Amino acid sequence: MQIDLKHLPQGRSTLDDELPPESVGITRQDVTVEGPLKLRLSLDRRGDEVWIRGKLQLVAVQECSRCLTDFKEPLDLEFEVFCAKVHSPNVVSASVVDEDDQGVHVHDGRILSVDHEIREAVILGLSMKPLCKDTCAGLCPTCGDDRNLGPCRCARAAAG
Ligand SMILES: [Zn+2]
Ligand SMILES: [Zn+2]
Repeated sequence: MQIDLKHLPQGRSTLDDELPPESVGITRQDVTVEGPLKLRLSLDRRGDEVWIRGKLQLVAVQECSRCLTDFKEPLDLEFEVFCAKVHSPNVVSASVVDEDDQGVHVHDGRILSVDHEIREAVILGLSMKPLCKDTCAGLCPTCGDDRNLGPCRCARAAAG
């Protein structure tokens, strides 16, 4: 998402947008997102310095870590970024600054992009051990059946 600084007023403002996940660099390798990213930015501009608080809503398609079934995980995320104008655009390249993780995002005085921050918030916001439900019974370690669907093969065999 690109913010045109020419049109961004001084002081506080808000921006709402819906973005396709690909537009901020989220690929299928990162995560499958169903529908758009819903974004609300609260901006506070002082000259060329912009403080941004972002709220992000999306639905990620995750694989349950217990039963390996795909399910939809709604995510409500927040991020903050402080943006300042770069002093020597010819010396400091954007990629160098991104790696220099001081929490300060630089812009060229014309266009501000928070795509990197949005993608990072999504990736950090994903559950590391997603569960389709808290009570997911998972797969049987012996026969591999999904025990959410009823007794597995070994349980049925044991029951006779
Ligand atoms: Zn599950
Ligand atoms: Zn079993």
